[in-house]
Amino acid sequence: MNRYQTVRPEQKYTAKMFDREFPTEDACLEYVKEKRFPGGMALCVNCGVERKHYRVSGRTSYACHACGNHIYPLAGTIFHKSTTPLRTWFFVIRLMASTRVGISAKQIQRETGVTYKTAWRMMKQVRKLMADERKLTGPVEIDESQFGAPDANKHRGLLRQHSKTTVLGIVERGGRVVTRVLPDATKESILPIVGEVLPPKTMIYSDESATLALVRWMGMSHKHSTVNHSESYVNGYAHTNTIDGFWSLVKRGIKGVYYQVGAEYLQSYLNEYAFRYNRRKVMRPMFALLAERTTAQVCPSAREQRLAAKPE
Ligand SMILES: [Zn+2]
Repeated sequence: MNRYQTVRPEQKYTAKMFDREFPTEDACLEYVKEKRFPGGMALCVNCGVERKHYRVSGRTSYACHACGNHIYPLAGTIFHKSTTPLRTWFFVIRLMASTRVGISAKQIQRETGVTYKTAWRMMKQVRKLMADERKLTGPVEIDESQFGAPDANKHRGLLRQHSKTTVLGIVERGGRVVTRVLPDATKESILPIVGEVLPPKTMIYSDESATLALVRWMGMSHKHSTVNHSESYVNGYAHTNTIDGFWSLVKRGIKGVYYQVGAEYLQSYLNEYAFRYNRRKVMRPMFALLAERTTAQVCPSAREQRLAAKPE
């Protein structure tokens, strides 16, 4: 049993908890509204000031108590303009959050009753919530891995490209991981990513592959001032067990759950695995983290921004 596959009690978000917190469609809407507009307080573009807003029955909007102007908490979220019930959305987020090895669109379809196509689209949206931005800190392990499904699609009679896709993985020891699908394994493809993900002078461990040459090259080069990995060690003690462990986790998952992943979707699958992996020690349910992210990245409308910037 891989230790990353065990879910601690504090990280569990059970069906019972879900039913209690999100019992109805209204409860789901209320959750989003409270995250975006706590207490229903929001800038009313009509009044030009913060006003209390009340739920408009039969609609997904809330109305200003003074002038009746509507606000739409779902606007700009992954739920916006979706015909799928909000509760189904949250249910899918829970399913995706409660597995360590991934879940297939087929399973989502079975558990929710939505079509396969809808399940697939919803999963794609939820994966968007899983993108990570922060830089890693050293020491890190860097490795490339090949992804591909040579025997897939035989039964469909489709002739897909069987070429393997190269993925770069950078992982903090005992910490987080970042992956990137590469167009090729050249320095030109790898260096900008390393520069973007790691602060200068990060201690890098790598194995004897092409990455080794790259790391050495970086250590000696002054051309790329953003990355000056002056301290880089590659030897028998400098293992890459951490990144190897991550690769095997992802590959087991893809094999068992997704069967095959087209190169164009590989990055979003990798993001999903990285998101779970990076939060394996966070003592809160992954569902809660993801649910919060549904409203975290919403931008106010242009009109709201203008009003907010306007002096009183
Ligand atoms: Zn108003």
